[in-house]
Amino acid sequence: MFGMRKKIMPVYTYGAPVLKAIAAPVEKITPEIRELADRMIDTMFAFDGIGLAAPQVGVSKRIVALALPAQLPADYEPSPAEELLLPMMPMVIINPQIISYGKDKYISDEGCLSVPDIYAPVERPRTIVFQTEIIDYGIVTVEAGGLLARCIQHEMDHLNGTLFVEKVAPEAYTKIDARVRTLIARGAQNNYQRRK
Ligand code: ZN
Repeated sequence: MFGMRKKIMPVYTYGAPVLKAIAAPVEKITPEIRELADRMIDTMFAFDGIGLAAPQVGVSKRIVALALPAQLPADYEPSPAEELLLPMMPMVIINPQIISYGKDKYISDEGCLSVPDIYAPVERPRTIVFQTEIIDYGIVTVEAGGLLARCIQHEMDHLNGTLFVEKVAPEAYTKIDARVRTLIARGAQNNYQRRK
């Protein structure tokens, strides 16, 4: 819808200093934080993302927008976090923290709105226990698996100044190295901003 365009923020791409900073905790959910949350959801949808951390729109605060698909694979046993959170999507979480990681790890391809059109495998724990505040809901501590667990780990990395490409194993990284260099060089010419 054309009228919604004003809420869409530029997305910062790899190389932007804001993506390397440790984001600050949110002290209080003010009207400004709510406005930012709405704009992050609009921006995430405009760029077809399933997750967006505030540093990606140039705001170094611990805020994450999520829009995971509610549909789960057949025969998949949803984790408690998926049962709770998937019906709330799209949603915004504040000050998320990972409390513990499951021992089992697996590798899966990831992508990122700050690293457009580049996908590469990242190894991560399959399950996590995380705690977060949810706007208009409260604070929850819940175990996550599946895509949700992976997505929250990816977004937590953003809040701590890390991008997924920095976690790709060396052999796989050689396949994306040239494209990452091109992205950084092009980004530098555009103040590291993607616009819709
Ligand atoms: Zn990302």
